[in-house]
Amino acid sequence: MLDGTLCEGCGVFMGEDVGFARLCKGCAQDRRESGRDVRKTGLGGYQDVGPKPNLAKTNCPICNKRVKKVGLGQHKRDAHGIKD
Ligand SMILES: [Zn+2]
Ligand SMILES: [Zn+2]
Repeated sequence: MLDGTLCEGCGVFMGEDVGFARLCKGCAQDRRESGRDVRKTGLGGYQDVGPKPNLAKTNCPICNKRVKKVGLGQHKRDAHGIKD
């Protein structure tokens, strides 16, 4: 399964081993819906490459606006003039 012969999610046969875990189309869609970043491998199948960074949001502690976690520092600088 971890060499990509079987789908990492449901175990369906994917083809010859590619050296990393792969997902079938259905599982790739499920992962995407649960907020994961899933990419095409180029060798057939999909790969879960981690949490989708642009879905990770947080509330700004100053104005309570929803901002991207990765952009919070920049938001604080731009919107509130805070440098940290
Ligand atoms: Zn699957
Ligand atoms: Zn703010």
